[in-house]
Amino acid sequence: MALTGLEIYKQMPKKNCGECGVPTCLAFAMALASGKASLDSCPYVTDAARENLDSASAPPIKAIKFGKDSVLGDETVLFRHDKTFYHPTTLLIYVADSLSDDELTAKIQEIKGLEFERVGLQYSMDGVAIVQESGDAARFAKVAATVAEATDKSLVLLSNDPEAVKAALAPLASRKPLIGSATADNYEAMVNLAKENSVPVIIKAEGLDALEELVVKAQGLGYKEFVLDPGSRKPVDTLANLTHIRRLAIKKKFRPLGFPVIAFTTKAEPMEEIMEATVYVAKYASAVVLKTSAKAHVLPLMTLRQNIYTDPQKPIQVEPKLHSVGNVDENSPFYITTNFSLTYYSVEGEVETSKIPSYILPIDTDGTSVLTAYAAGKFEPEKIVEAMNASGIADRVKHRNIIIPGYVAVISGKLSELSGWKTIVGPRESSGIVSFSKTLS
Ligand code: SF4
Repeated sequence: MALTGLEIYKQMPKKNCGECGVPTCLAFAMALASGKASLDSCPYVTDAARENLDSASAPPIKAIKFGKDSVLGDETVLFRHDKTFYHPTTLLIYVADSLSDDELTAKIQEIKGLEFERVGLQYSMDGVAIVQESGDAARFAKVAATVAEATDKSLVLLSNDPEAVKAALAPLASRKPLIGSATADNYEAMVNLAKENSVPVIIKAEGLDALEELVVKAQGLGYKEFVLDPGSRKPVDTLANLTHIRRLAIKKKFRPLGFPVIAFTTKAEPMEEIMEATVYVAKYASAVVLKTSAKAHVLPLMTLRQNIYTDPQKPIQVEPKLHSVGNVDENSPFYITTNFSLTYYSVEGEVETSKIPSYILPIDTDGTSVLTAYAAGKFEPEKIVEAMNASGIADRVKHRNIIIPGYVAVISGKLSELSGWKTIVGPRESSGIVSFSKTLS
């Protein structure tokens, strides 16, 4: 159980020097207890106290790193709006070692093709979980090596047989794969294998009581780079397990379950599988293993993940500079919008569809949408004119027309007056741009 602020305070240096960023040792102890400070911020804490306080200052969910750049866990809140979630769910594609060589090649190509651009950000599939279904250790090792050679993605090696994992891991240890699964029957061999190779290991047991018991036993081997698998393959049970583990880790600081959790989809129909995966991404899997690798299936899941794992206090923004869509010239229309990514890319997409090369100037509204920005005084004519002058649009076009979003038609008079340009009120929604653009010529 975690220490309270007062228990931590008893072990602090009590210099009240403020070097940790808060004025007193008591305030620092309170911040430490609530996970809002790091013990490293105090240069005067003794080694003995540091050892005692390690558990209090550790994050409620341990960060586990593996593969290319996958980080699991290290979350501090139950709900995104409490602060933010930090490490997007790692998505992995299930690849059985029972696939034929041709099927394996096709699967790898499909996985490599899972690359997307959305609201200006690039996404690709994070990794591959190679699963032993063949019962043949040599085949498992060969498939793992083939996948590793073909991609630089994070790898998971999954078998109940520690010897099979050992053989597959040997040539791939430098790739730092996640291995598994350690169960009640094999945990000593599997955890020791992970420890010898400094790779994280999945601890798997049916239900939370059994899982806690196994984690404690596994920690007894002197290792704690764990990812948890609570066993159930029924979505309703998996959701309950994921939620209980997260609550116990965050609210109760229950250390045996303070590790990231991996979930496996079970639905055979791809869209049902994606719906199942969305539940696990939302609550609270740090990694999800999927069977489908079709682009049309994976994109909605990645979109959901992007929405959940953006900081709610820092909307995604585009650079507030003049953007060109298509081969613009001196006659190209000139649109104004805000720098909120979703707004900007909705406008850009519709302008592109209109096939009329155009300029778009997103005004810096701190990443808020048009109406929110206007209500907050961030989409005012003075600010727009300032941005227009800084953008150099007057030198790019010979006309003097500004197209503004229909929702802020009210600013058109003042904007014309201040800029000397003619203000044209565009559609309220970006979906109206295509038909609106036909009225421009
Ligand atoms: Fe106390 Fe250490 Fe902070 Fe100084 S730096 S106020 S000694 S906790």
